[in-house]
Amino acid sequence: MKDVANDAPVILWFRRDLRLGDHAALTAAAASGRPVIPVFLHDETVEVLGAAAKWRLGEGLAVLAAGLGARGARLILRRGAAREVLLRLVAETGAAAVHWQRVYDREGIARDTAVKAALKAEGILAESFPGAVLFEPWTVATGAGAPHSVYSPFWRAVRGRDAGVALPEPESLRPPATWPASDMRADWRMAMAVDRGAAFLARHATVGEAAARARLEGFVAERLARYPSERDFPARGATSGLSENLAWGEISPRTVWAAGLRAREEGNPGAEKFLSELVWREFAWHLMYHHPGLASANWRAGWDSFPWRGDNPEAERWRRGMTGEPFVDAAMREMYVTGRMHNRARMIAASYLTKHLMTDWRVGLAWFAECLTDWDPAANAMGWQWVAGCGPDAAPYFRIFNPGTQAEKFDPEGRYRGAFLAEGRAAPPATARDYFAAVPRAWRLRPDARYPAPAIALAEGRARALRAYGQRDRAAAE
Ligand code: FAD
Repeated sequence: MKDVANDAPVILWFRRDLRLGDHAALTAAAASGRPVIPVFLHDETVEVLGAAAKWRLGEGLAVLAAGLGARGARLILRRGAAREVLLRLVAETGAAAVHWQRVYDREGIARDTAVKAALKAEGILAESFPGAVLFEPWTVATGAGAPHSVYSPFWRAVRGRDAGVALPEPESLRPPATWPASDMRADWRMAMAVDRGAAFLARHATVGEAAARARLEGFVAERLARYPSERDFPARGATSGLSENLAWGEISPRTVWAAGLRAREEGNPGAEKFLSELVWREFAWHLMYHHPGLASANWRAGWDSFPWRGDNPEAERWRRGMTGEPFVDAAMREMYVTGRMHNRARMIAASYLTKHLMTDWRVGLAWFAECLTDWDPAANAMGWQWVAGCGPDAAPYFRIFNPGTQAEKFDPEGRYRGAFLAEGRAAPPATARDYFAAVPRAWRLRPDARYPAPAIALAEGRARALRAYGQRDRAAAE
């Protein structure tokens, strides 16, 4: 670090870690005794966010800024390429160091590496800290020292591991003598791309650190015990809903992990299953780190010649929740209205697109990235590749979910479908009507129109996919 007086500030660069508790970079900045300048940059990674994710980020920033304000600090907002903006801010403020929490995706790592080099060249300390995952990706390996590519041994490897104790929020943050100028968040127009959907997304979002903690506590107290038996039923609200907060770092995975461990020790029958699901998130990030192309290239060898269709008219019907398959359409509409989709529904909607409609998983991945408020680059990529059959641990790649029988099993009373489908009903609920008010007018959808006929007969779609798998298997064997 530059040999400068103790009043040269530390810049705390927030990214997908919008919290003050269990934040190692913030704790270190506060402990340095220097003034702390919290900053968020509308940088190259924010520019490319999907519509709903960008909206949700804007909401998260508002809550973070309010939290900092209540503690006598400020969140400084700046727009532009991270490297240039940070160098300028360092020059303006005389900062001696920049702290951040590590990310593990290819684009994030490339950005951070360039930033670190540029700061170092100026004699500024650039320090990155853990906290986005439970365990650093290079610390979990198979017996042979390789990264895990199968979930079950990965789970066994981390199940009993100590993730450390969550750090308390720093007691105080020393302010700088003068605060640097900040952009106005409203000028960033984070809600622009969701347009009419913003008002609906807002009803379904639970934003900020305090809300995330309350959500975790409520879940453990009220729903965790029945999580294993009910988590697969989309209408039962039996899961934690925490993905939204984990995606934006409003709660640390370690805090969630600790709550699960405590519940396990207390004998809560749902804790083990919950912890194992949280480890799917961990697994996704470790995969992303070790396979930086997870979101763009088939993970398994032998899939590049698979005859997936590119974008196509049926895929557009899928995006619009108009495939004529009620479970799939309910799922797609749930996502558009709420920014969320139940995990079982994600699997069925993704399977229908990649198998019955034989559409490239990257078409679906991109639409989820556009619509999800809990968009997580690693979980989304792993989920799509897993369902499509070309991903890690997708052993039953030939499994084709039948949306009809899945609906009978996991939505037996039709409550989920009923919550999101309006056509042909005298008095559809608000959630079903909301869809028509949220989607672009150009789609020309009406709740009183006839529900569409199926885009493809399920048996026909299934047979076509199985034929393609057969050809792939034969080609792979040759
Ligand atoms: P809970 O059941 O309460 O689980 C607790 C936490 O464990 C979740 O918040 C999440 O962080 C983690 N988790 C649970 N299941 C999974 C899983 N299968 N993969 C990874 N992590 C998991 N999750 C995202 O967070 N963002 C995404 O963009 C995303 N895209 C997906 C796309 C597809 C095609 C599929 C099949 C799954 C995707 N998932 C994604 C995983 C999963 O659907 C969500 O994490 C889950 O629905 C979130 O609901 P919850 O918080 O109530 O989960």
